Amino acid sequence: MTESAPIDVLVSEVGPRDGLQSIKRAMPTAVKHRWIAALAAAGLREIEVGSFVSPKLLPQMADAGEVVREAIRIPNLTVLALVPNLKGAEGAIEAGAHKLTMPVSASRAHSLANIRKTPEEAIEEVRNVRALCDGLARAPGPTVEVGISTAFGCSMEGAVSEDWVIRMAAMLVEAGADSVGLSDSVGYANPVQVKRMFTRLRGEIGDKAGAAHLHNTRGQGLANVVAALEAGVTTFDASQGGIGGCPYAPGATGNIVTEDLVFLLESMGLRTGIDLEKLIAARGIIAEGLPGEQIYGSVPEAGLPKGFVYAAAKGTTP
Ligand code: ZN
Repeated sequence: MTESAPIDVLVSEVGPRDGLQSIKRAMPTAVKHRWIAALAAAGLREIEVGSFVSPKLLPQMADAGEVVREAIRIPNLTVLALVPNLKGAEGAIEAGAHKLTMPVSASRAHSLANIRKTPEEAIEEVRNVRALCDGLARAPGPTVEVGISTAFGCSMEGAVSEDWVIRMAAMLVEAGADSVGLSDSVGYANPVQVKRMFTRLRGEIGDKAGAAHLHNTRGQGLANVVAALEAGVTTFDASQGGIGGCPYAPGATGNIVTEDLVFLLESMGLRTGIDLEKLIAARGIIAEGLPGEQIYGSVPEAGLPKGFVYAAAKGTTP
């Protein structure tokens, strides 16, 4: 294994999970393998590759075990799997995932609709998964990450109490989460709110404050990234081609676009370790695996500016 160059911001790719999960057609398993390998070759160090849910519920994710087993063979790549419950965690651990990510919703209505559990019950499930990981023979076991979804508002409940979100984060750490991030899966957040919430999160749980998972449904995605950076966030989720469009906003992108995020960070002088040309080339694999699927991104459309210099090559970091 070669030592990776230092980075300032970790870009965590969620396309193979979050993106593909919201597309009805399934990408063939062999194409998933190639796509993940191409993303890793472009410099992505962390990829969420699948979801361990019932294949009846999400047939697109039925090959999650196979995809994890292939992805963990890639050197220097942290392989994440989404697990909604203990059963999912068992599957992901068996396949060899390095990190488990659990969705816990701040909105009661969303939580019940999504995983048929109240937020409190979902927190207890995190405790169960923690106990499972701690009891494993292999050491160190996988880490447990939680993203609090609907942290900035909910399409079912509307406004979500900020105090409740922060209290939940503390409860999740107490239940054994290694990190707790905030997710804006419906694209409701604005930069002022993002900065305030991540500042409060860090104040409450310190260095266990995790990733920002932001969507671009209403065009606020990258503005929210800058606000989160100002609050000290150093991990951002994003999806290649912005796949994972919101079903409630046709034509709008879902997750922020990895290509645009990397360009933003690098041009601000923050090292990501990612090669934008290789990353943009990997978009072709989505078209192969899901012909006709709409993908997004401004930088891939417009190209890199003349004289563009990566942050690492500038020699100084802010
Ligand atoms: Zn998302």
